[in-house]
Amino acid sequence: MIYLDHAATTPVPREVADAMYAVLTEQFGNPSSQYQLGLEMKRKVELWRKTVAEALGCDAKQLFFTSCGTEGDNWAIQAGLWQNRHVGRHIVTTAIEHNAVLECCKWMERQGCEVTYVSPRDASGVITAEDILSAVRPDTALVSVMMVNNEIGTVLPIRQIAAGLKAKNPKTLLHTDAVQGFMKVPFTARTLGADFITISGHKLGAPKGVGALYIGHRIPNPRPLLAGGGQEQALRSGTEATAQIAGFAKAVELRRQDLNAKLAHMAGIKAYAIRQLTAIPDLRLIGAGEAPHILSVSLVGWPSQNIVNDLSAQGICVSAGSACHQGKPSHVVAALKLDKRTAGGVIRLSFGPETSEEEIDACAEALRRHHDTRMPMLK
Ligand code: PLP
Repeated sequence: MIYLDHAATTPVPREVADAMYAVLTEQFGNPSSQYQLGLEMKRKVELWRKTVAEALGCDAKQLFFTSCGTEGDNWAIQAGLWQNRHVGRHIVTTAIEHNAVLECCKWMERQGCEVTYVSPRDASGVITAEDILSAVRPDTALVSVMMVNNEIGTVLPIRQIAAGLKAKNPKTLLHTDAVQGFMKVPFTARTLGADFITISGHKLGAPKGVGALYIGHRIPNPRPLLAGGGQEQALRSGTEATAQIAGFAKAVELRRQDLNAKLAHMAGIKAYAIRQLTAIPDLRLIGAGEAPHILSVSLVGWPSQNIVNDLSAQGICVSAGSACHQGKPSHVVAALKLDKRTAGGVIRLSFGPETSEEEIDACAEALRRHHDTRMPMLK
């Protein structure tokens, strides 16, 4: 199998599975239990928190484990609005956020909030700090802007947005969905300037079902997500998913080893893929994505779902980039305002540290064959 869909999820390394197995079978204590098995688990959870917090560049006490990135996004938006309820009920976000943010914003609209969705300037997918800041008003409680777009790989200017907010409207809180940015683009929570940062484990070799939310010092008493037994500083109650958290920490530890070399490898693979794929007739690059692991292209005129199915039959996994979901282009592709034949052919390739040039060659070959042997859509 050739797996070129690391932005969807990633394989779990053996060491991560082993770390989880040990927790599931031997170290299965509840961290809230008062005997040795429980106390030991409590100590371990705090060590694992420290590992993830170090990679994110924050204090361990600012990091709260969640069940996924979606949960972190929902929590951050709700907590930000709650914290700033005296400021107003206006949110600024982008039209290219993941649905975990967009749907939460839509839910907030139904509860009386007003939301401004900033669109990319053009087909590059670029959104500047100025674009975001010009939408901010005195009653803007929260700005929520993703760090890296999951479909086209654009890197959004979070640092500049944070600096601009400080000057324009210092009370406005900033959330960034860094699910595709964490350990892919360099940043630290300490220097980024965001008040909330969402991350998710399964994009970097951890199992599905674990993520974390960073909550900064400007939110001293955050709105709890789940009330109950008092876990996660009484903000996100529920018995800790110890095996998942162990896997998260192990995956982060493994990724951090030679991280720069891994990122350089992914960027090299992306550059190689661009060279190989652009040699295919009718293939066009989509967006100006700078993230090292995400490449969006269109085989203009050939429906993306057919491409995905054809490649899948040959054991090659790529994504339709959420394009053509139920016959419509994804909201991200739609926001680029591409013509119908280009939008209809968008696929996403995404890479991991283990992706090889041979795998890219096989994918390019399959795409060329698809182009040469399959019927394009009618004009
Ligand atoms: N945000 C972005 C940018 C994502 O790419 C994803 C997952 O694809 C999510 C949020 C949701 O993360 P999770 O699958 O952990 O809920």
